[in-house]
Amino acid sequence: MENEINLGDVIQTRKPHPCGSDIWTVIRTGADIKIKCQGCGRIVMLDRAVFLKRRKKVIQAAVPPDAAREEQSEHAD
Ligand SMILES: [Zn+2]
Repeated sequence: MENEINLGDVIQTRKPHPCGSDIWTVIRTGADIKIKCQGCGRIVMLDRAVFLKRRKKVIQAAVPPDAAREEQSEHAD
């Protein structure tokens, strides 16, 4: 889904951060979204609507928790 935001998503913003990087990692989801700049490590909190406006594209979608658990149990076998 287009408006999906997952913890751990790596996303690109329309405008780069002053440090020059436009790649961010989602570190918190909910009513407010917290993203961390991959260039300088700065953390920014955005309104969900504002975040979706600034997000250009998802570089790497986070693995849903269910899939991660499945993978882990496979390794345990
Ligand atoms: Zn930065």
